[in-house]
Amino acid sequence: MKQVESTPEHSKSIASHGSSADASLASVRRGNLIVLTGPSGVGKGTLTKTMLQRIKHLVKSVSVTTRNRRPAEEEGVDYFFVSRDEFEHMEERGRFLEFAEFAGNMYGTPKAWVEDQLRHGNDVLLEIEVQGAKQVRLRRPESLLIFVSPPSFESLRVRLEGRGTETPEKIAARLEKAELEMLEKNLFYYEVVNDNIEEAVNNLTHIVYAERCRIRKTAVISPK
Ligand code: 5GP
Repeated sequence: MKQVESTPEHSKSIASHGSSADASLASVRRGNLIVLTGPSGVGKGTLTKTMLQRIKHLVKSVSVTTRNRRPAEEEGVDYFFVSRDEFEHMEERGRFLEFAEFAGNMYGTPKAWVEDQLRHGNDVLLEIEVQGAKQVRLRRPESLLIFVSPPSFESLRVRLEGRGTETPEKIAARLEKAELEMLEKNLFYYEVVNDNIEEAVNNLTHIVYAERCRIRKTAVISPK
């Protein structure tokens, strides 16, 4: 069995991905953990890319997955692609902040890299499905939890079919899952409807900057 995190090359790449963001905020504040969740096909990927271009001190966590690499995807940029054995080995060693099975494949967020970025003052964005987002909600309730909704269920179908990356069976499975995921949006702190990309990114940017200005995460009730 190949040992993912014991391979120096691999651990190095998982540990150092995307670390180009300016760390000058380090002495000022700890970064915020930001979760962008919502059904597959809702456009989380495009929203994430645009946010990364526009928001300073924001980095994206690159997930580990057992899914096959799509032709346009790059190792270490889109995902770290591993076998199921490698994934399970990492999971047993507590390497994931959260992980979930989605449409027959495993996906997980590397914990050490996220922690390191937060310590250095960068906000870290997790673009993940709903089961994983619920785990973050329980483990790190102080995170900024954002649910991205489609303007309609039909728009999801059109987008998944238009992507052309999945078989009709896989699209059907993702749509079925999406219906259930939509029922859980009230577990999260903000909802952003992705009808118009520009508007959605605008809302997300405001939410991220507002969170940076927040003093307390919970109300403090002081006795009179
Ligand atoms: P895709 O196979 O289309 O790249 O991703 C399928 C779903 O898995 C998407 O909703 C995506 O956001 C989610 N996903 C990607 N990385 C992770 C991860 O590390 N953890 C969890 N829980 N979901 C992830």
